[in-house]
Amino acid sequence: MADEKYESYCLKCKTKQAMVDAQKTVLKNGANAVKGKCAVCGTTVMKILPKEKK
Ligand SMILES: [Zn+2]
Repeated sequence: MADEKYESYCLKCKTKQAMVDAQKTVLKNGANAVKGKCAVCGTTVMKILPKEKK
């Protein structure tokens, strides 16, 4: 799972970029999200993940 690739919209690059140092997190509202850094400029980016069905 550590090598999962994520893309997120980077506000600095103003486009979607690959995410590095991605770490899964859970938001206060219970939504799963991934926090990481833009692979290009290093800005912190976040991506909300769709809920997983179990
Ligand atoms: Zn960027």
